[in-house]
Amino acid sequence: MTDRPRSAPMPAVLRAGRPPRHPALAVRCPHCAAAEGARCTTRSGRVTKTEPCPARVAAWATATAVCPTCQVLQTYPCRDNHGNELPDSSPVHPARYTEAGRPAA
Ligand SMILES: [Zn+2]
Ligand SMILES: [Zn+2]
Repeated sequence: MTDRPRSAPMPAVLRAGRPPRHPALAVRCPHCAAAEGARCTTRSGRVTKTEPCPARVAAWATATAVCPTCQVLQTYPCRDNHGNELPDSSPVHPARYTEAGRPAA
């Protein structure tokens, strides 16, 4: 017969509770209209989402970081090689998310 330890102590980090807030919560969400500091919801406002809307992360990156790709300053939207704004589906260059402090998803 072998005696094995019944259970290892639970690491404290797992008990710490809520995950850290996403930095994009500092800005208002242009998609679902969640206020600064509030978490995103679905458009109906009924379900609170754990991750902010992509449009909010884009707005946050735009407000926070200079874009290393197209060289625009904070608060200015990214531009393509022709000087046009990027499409809504991907309005910010990926490097700008990194610059703002979060790797691109
Ligand atoms: Zn949102
Ligand atoms: Zn850019």
